Amino acid sequence: MSCESPPPVPDDAPSARAFAVVVDDWFDGERRRRETTTFRVVDGCVADIDSGDRGIALAAQGLRVLRGGFLMPGLVDAHVHLFLDGTATDPGTRARHLKEPIEHLLETARRNARRSLACGVTLVRDAGDRHGINHRIRAEAQRASSTLARVRSAGCGIRAPKRYGAFMAAEAGTDDELREAIAQRAADSDEIKLILTGLIDFEAGAVTEEPQFTLAQARLFVETAHACGRRIFAHCSGAKGLGIAIEAGVDCIEHGFFMTPEVCGQMARRAIAWTPTFGPVHFQWANAPALGWPAETVDKLRRLLDEHARHLKLAVDAGVAVLLGTDAGSMGVAHGDAVFDEIDRYGQAGLSLEQILAAATSNPRRHFGFEHARLSRRAPFDAVLLERSPFDDRSALRRPLRVWRPQWPPQRESSCATSD
Ligand SMILES: [Zn+2]
Repeated sequence: MSCESPPPVPDDAPSARAFAVVVDDWFDGERRRRETTTFRVVDGCVADIDSGDRGIALAAQGLRVLRGGFLMPGLVDAHVHLFLDGTATDPGTRARHLKEPIEHLLETARRNARRSLACGVTLVRDAGDRHGINHRIRAEAQRASSTLARVRSAGCGIRAPKRYGAFMAAEAGTDDELREAIAQRAADSDEIKLILTGLIDFEAGAVTEEPQFTLAQARLFVETAHACGRRIFAHCSGAKGLGIAIEAGVDCIEHGFFMTPEVCGQMARRAIAWTPTFGPVHFQWANAPALGWPAETVDKLRRLLDEHARHLKLAVDAGVAVLLGTDAGSMGVAHGDAVFDEIDRYGQAGLSLEQILAAATSNPRRHFGFEHARLSRRAPFDAVLLERSPFDDRSALRRPLRVWRPQWPPQRESSCATSD
């Protein structure tokens, strides 16, 4: 397993209230800054970012000085299911897991959030669980001494009656039920998850079921959520579902397999974000013999992944805000580690490392409406320290030296604006 880093430091010790970090190279969330730079951190906020090595002077003032090769914002996994164990790859084991008592599922979720943080993933967006375990982990992660990645939680998603998604979503069918379900979730979910389509039929190489909701229902969904001040992210693959998602104006499309260049253009024009999630399909392709897929299906899976990669590049070039998400918890997709596999797939799709790291740091924070999307002065110090620059050695990402996450909930990040 990768990212066997020292445990992340919940910086609540008195000596951790003020310190400095000196690095040779860094990434601010959008651009690489290839220069020796000194960061001064006070009470969890970036107090100063200065060119050059000011370590000796600051140490002389009694400040603790840390050094490393590279600093970047904490990684964000924009699509996970904390209560699911992605390392479980046997269907029987996975089915039994869903029937375990809540305490067992909570412990799984805690372990996954802890593992994520150890890998440098300081924030995850949980895309739904029917028990609301994501909300409970969100609350635990807000404690100052927590060693869990912070959680942006959808709570329980919404699906059509008797359709796909029972493990992560509750049913709503009529317009009144939809309005009520959205109003309930708007009260305590950070974003609202809509299950708009079913799964991909790998043997058919297509989404064969009709979308779960009509365009009129999807519009009602988006309008009601927006009126409640919440954004929608929609599980959606296949041409029909994508057409409805775009026309209805959802805020973010999850998965989005069977994308087309036209849809990429529409997403860019309508400022709809996209979380492509290669992980679960890639696992099926890479483990096809063990999973019993015939050669014909393997070819379809490969084509699906290649087309997905081609559209990812088209979308980024068109200006779509891509959020890196893994669907961790799905079969074969391990929390934390999967982020690095997804990063590699973005690289294979032809994205630059700056574009990839933006998708894994500033793009999601901007989409979530955080006041600080980048590592900048007066931003919360939400950062990962690496021994080497990933621009020289990409594998350095898998071995964080130190991880810092803000100690307060995201909505309170403006508290840095007043500190110095
Ligand atoms: Zn998912």
